[in-house]
Amino acid sequence: MFAFRQLLAKVRDVMAGEGDGPSRLARIVVVIAAELDAQVCSIYVRRAGEVLELFATEGLKREAVHVTRLRFGEGLIGKVAATGRPMALADAQKHPSFVYRPETGEEIYHSFLGVPILGYARVIGVLAVQSVDRRTYREDEVEALQTVAMVLGQVVLGGDLVNRQELAPAEDIATMPRRLEGLGLNDGIGIGIAVHHRPWQTIRRFVGDDPQVEHGRLQSAVAEMRVSLDDLVGAAGADAHDDYRDVLESYRMIAADAGWLRRIGDAIDTGLTAEAAVQKTTNEIRARLRQASDPYLSERVHDFEDLASRLLQHLLGGPAAGTMPAPDQGIVLVARNIGPTELLNYQGSREGSREDNRQGIRQGNRLCGLILEEGSMTAHAIIVARALDVPVIGHVRDALARIDPGDPVIVDADRAQVFVHPRDDISAAFIAGQAARMQRQAAYAKARDLPAVTRDGVRIGVHMNAGLLVDLEHLEAYGADGVGLYRTEIPFLVRSEMPVRDVQEQLYRRVMEQVGDKPVIFRTLDVGGDKVLSSWQHGDEENPAMGWRAIRVGLDRPALLRHQLSAMIRAAAGRDLAVMFPMLAHVEEFNAARRLLDKEWRAEAERGGTLPRSVRVGAMVEVPSLLFQLPALLSVADFVSVGTNDLLQFLFACDRGSPQMSERYDPLCPIVLNVLADLVEKCSAASVPITVCGEMSVRPVDAMALIGIGFRALSVPPRGIGPIKMMIRNLNLAGVEDYVRTLRTSNELSVRASLAAFARDHGVII
Ligand code: PEP
Ligand code: MG
Repeated sequence: MFAFRQLLAKVRDVMAGEGDGPSRLARIVVVIAAELDAQVCSIYVRRAGEVLELFATEGLKREAVHVTRLRFGEGLIGKVAATGRPMALADAQKHPSFVYRPETGEEIYHSFLGVPILGYARVIGVLAVQSVDRRTYREDEVEALQTVAMVLGQVVLGGDLVNRQELAPAEDIATMPRRLEGLGLNDGIGIGIAVHHRPWQTIRRFVGDDPQVEHGRLQSAVAEMRVSLDDLVGAAGADAHDDYRDVLESYRMIAADAGWLRRIGDAIDTGLTAEAAVQKTTNEIRARLRQASDPYLSERVHDFEDLASRLLQHLLGGPAAGTMPAPDQGIVLVARNIGPTELLNYQGSREGSREDNRQGIRQGNRLCGLILEEGSMTAHAIIVARALDVPVIGHVRDALARIDPGDPVIVDADRAQVFVHPRDDISAAFIAGQAARMQRQAAYAKARDLPAVTRDGVRIGVHMNAGLLVDLEHLEAYGADGVGLYRTEIPFLVRSEMPVRDVQEQLYRRVMEQVGDKPVIFRTLDVGGDKVLSSWQHGDEENPAMGWRAIRVGLDRPALLRHQLSAMIRAAAGRDLAVMFPMLAHVEEFNAARRLLDKEWRAEAERGGTLPRSVRVGAMVEVPSLLFQLPALLSVADFVSVGTNDLLQFLFACDRGSPQMSERYDPLCPIVLNVLADLVEKCSAASVPITVCGEMSVRPVDAMALIGIGFRALSVPPRGIGPIKMMIRNLNLAGVEDYVRTLRTSNELSVRASLAAFARDHGVII
């Protein structure tokens, strides 16, 4: 067995010795080849355009250095880089991915072991050894090479091999104004100076002199980290929302996870320093979680990275955060991804109020925007960002390479675009836009306590959609009539385990307490499809939006639905309970779900619990088939809520999440108006109340059309409440009803322009 500690010690000597990056690489390959008893050791470094270039070799022909280049995915080296995983082969030449490069002279070598070199959690190179004999590499050898690759990551990032800007497209390097696109993950507009989030500290000492000392350092760092997390949770407690505190609580649990800490301890026993052991373990966990087919699990990789980076801060001292701009400037954070507690680090003094953040007055060194190369709606950091009202744009390709620290940046998350070095006229427009926005906010705030009544005296219910406790704060702030859609899956998605009935009960009770006397409609779980819970596995589906989701899951897993319904019944003790079922395609599904609710109701009565004062059970109309069963549905449902997001995607066979399709069909198409008008008429004839809770009603002109065809209640995201109340208070109902009736006979794709002109002509503010 080779001496791992000896290898590490030799690598350490090279690192500590004289010389620049290239000469260190040249010496390290000699050491590795000798210690691993291999004839070849080579280092490939990532260059622009996802290319790997041979930078140093022992054993291959020297002429190949800086000549041999492979694309990511090409050959065995490219495969290691593309997958980010080690690859060990007894006979490399037999592998289908093997490509022969004559300049290297590698035809005589058979066995191959390649591992990725990582930097900032990204593959920045590949380290490989080869031997003439057909040997099988042992796991400890693979691990050893991975550890050495981790050390090499520091040399490659050291800066004198390749520079970061090489990876950026040429036109992006200068301070030219440019516009980048992404995916809006939290609305709003922020203006500030770019700061790069670099979660990883530079580790200088990899090899520990005494494992006991390293164990001791680890233990004290873990203890310090726990105290600081406790402080964070404590601080959050006073002014934060429960869902945001939940995220931090789940961190404390990961931090206490013995398995994670034991693995770090094991790595120390192999001869690493505590910090190197943390990094190595995190690299392994990252590689494993990234492979997970479950998106929830793969998302959790950032939680581990966040904690590991905190632990490193305690081990190495000093914050991992990048340098801050001048204190009176707002920060726009740019990161590949970020964990929630890391995000809080940038929140700084927190002296700015949430209101300031929302309105974009961002003085002082406060976080006013977040740009991510990755990111998803269910990521914990995004939930925290929502709680802090920080606009977020995710999926901005190569953001770290295309935005430099210190660049002035505008984050327009409403339109999912970023302006870097914005032209003066663009900056001026955004600053003016922010001022106008603040004026509008002030006008909405004034109208907050006024009812949404049309000029001719008809009261329209304006309710709010919510999914987190943090959203409920807007209920009073914007003066909504109640919660027309509470999406119960969101609290499920942010937890690593399925919340048990008691936890759900507490959550729903908190929701009811927070909304007070106002009504709230709970929608049962709409998971499945792309919203996957970690708590169960299900196979890949070709069309997840039309797959095993929502009520289909609830009816196939009745225990799940029954627990949820029972939690709602208990939480609503003595109050009014309203529940609705999503994605119904047949009235029989409604009946089956209702039977489960009745069963739980009876069970609660038998248990002697306090029952809700009343119960109303509603059906969401989201699947067109249900439109053909209205008589049966309206004879059993207490109310109907139209989920236009899904209904329109199925009506037009048009994926609601596809950016290419987002402008293709307009909800203000006469087809949609006719379908909805027919539905409203039938509901009204059957005396069944109906609302719209899809995003369609958030735009005032769409809401005006919906009111024109007969809707008397809408439920919209919080930001839509003010504008919609304003529109309603200027509207003459009789006039719009007549006008919409004429539009319904049109064959146009969209009647939006006509409706907008009508609004302008009649003084309706849209
Ligand atoms: C809808 O489909 O319109 C709806 C409200 O449900 P969700 O957006 O949660 O699918
Ligand atoms: Mg839906």
